[in-house]
Amino acid sequence: MKDLDFICIGAGPSGLSLGALSSTVPGLKGKILERKSNFEWHGGMLIPDAKMQISYLKDLVTLVDATNPFSFVNYLSVNNRLYQFITANFGSVNREEYSDYLSWVLSSLDNVEQDTLVREVDYKNGWLEIETDKEKYRTNNLVLSTGLSPVIPEVFDDQLKVDKNSLFSSSEYMYKSHDFSGKTVSVIGSGQSGAEIFLDLINQKTNAPEKINWITESDNIFQLDDSPFVNEIFNPGFAEYFYNSSEEEKKQLLSTYNFANNGVSEQTLVEIYQSLYKERYIKKEAKTRSNLLIGHTLKKVYKDNKQYVLEMRTKEETKKITSDVVIFCTGYKYKTPSYLEKIKCLFNRDEDNFLINSDYSVNWKHQDECSVYIQNGAIHTHGLSDPNLSLSSRRSAIIINSIIGYDFYKDLNAHSFIF
Ligand SMILES: Cc1cc2nc3c(=O)[nH]c(=O)nc-3n(C[C@H](O)[C@H](O)[C@H](O)COP(=O)(O)OP(=O)(O)OC[C@H]3O[C@@H](n4cnc5c(N)ncnc54)[C@H](O)[C@@H]3O)c2cc1C
Repeated sequence: MKDLDFICIGAGPSGLSLGALSSTVPGLKGKILERKSNFEWHGGMLIPDAKMQISYLKDLVTLVDATNPFSFVNYLSVNNRLYQFITANFGSVNREEYSDYLSWVLSSLDNVEQDTLVREVDYKNGWLEIETDKEKYRTNNLVLSTGLSPVIPEVFDDQLKVDKNSLFSSSEYMYKSHDFSGKTVSVIGSGQSGAEIFLDLINQKTNAPEKINWITESDNIFQLDDSPFVNEIFNPGFAEYFYNSSEEEKKQLLSTYNFANNGVSEQTLVEIYQSLYKERYIKKEAKTRSNLLIGHTLKKVYKDNKQYVLEMRTKEETKKITSDVVIFCTGYKYKTPSYLEKIKCLFNRDEDNFLINSDYSVNWKHQDECSVYIQNGAIHTHGLSDPNLSLSSRRSAIIINSIIGYDFYKDLNAHSFIF
């Protein structure tokens, strides 16, 4: 059994930010355990040309320590393309390039164990024991960075779940066959993932679908609000403000700022609108090829012969359509990981969630001896920036300060105009 100052489970952006920022702290010894053997950032959604929705300066480290060697700018510099990057003048960085940046950080850190699945965490005699498919570790500081899980609404029979090639979540889109010729494809959900997949399908040049349905229960397709003052919620001041608000105020804030996190980027919406225009008026394709079904709540999915039947409810009526492929773009949420089975009963919680302290540690029975920190699982206590990359470097810095017991990273609360 190996003893370490910290163990972090998961090497996505949250775990890698922790790894990058901890690498410059003298004497701090930790490990990051990642189940995948080949790194890819949301590989199932690496649609060519999909863009990042944040500035590249909000990378894994810069907002906390602009001198850290794992910045995006240093990645460009080391890979000898800083001049060209500036000249190319991208509005936003391509997601494939961001994935490559993360991969570069991962391979440059010397404490990431890839191809290592964490199976179980247990508490024994003042220690947390972490069992992987390879070996056992022991630590007093565990950081959970295993991300969110895709949500698929419970609208269909369980037996349909095995139909993996024609009914799946957006998180698997790029792994599936893209031969849609002669088929009807239905995209469910009008967030960023649904919009990107719909756009990809309309613009498919070969093996394109015969018909594409974009189905959403909302009353329109809404744009993500990233206007300057709304963007202040991705500022440390808001995280503090949110944390100190009452439960009632928190609910109100999450609802007020919903469109800062949930909606489609302006660029994607314009591209979709233009593609629909071209399809309808320039290429003069059949009017029914792309079909927007707004205000349609999916109630039931079942199979009739080889096709799926989608039963939907509008304000006025119940409708049925058939489809060969159904893609669920219905969001992500935090699910308690199965590796916590043995200790989750020791975590204090309210009705729906674990109680999280201001340093992102879980409030639990043995917190005086061992800390369990949670990244990307604290929207209910730390606000809308938690699942977003904007404040992930600050969150990692707060966790590192808490692990070592002093403020190695200082001045983490930048001024905000609003909060
Ligand atoms: C398609 C997509 C695009 C996004 N784009 C943006 C954007 O532009 N800007 C923005 O701010 N946010 C964006 N987000 C939201 C968010 O920033 C990302 O989801 C981000 O990847 C979250 O990072 P994470 O490290 O917390 O989780 P993840 O990226 O999900 O990483 C979790 C890691 O844990 C590993 N893991 C899980 N279980 C185990 C286990 N038992 N043992 C070992 N390893 C395990 C997984 O393999 C994975 O590598 C996007 C989300 C999606 C889905």
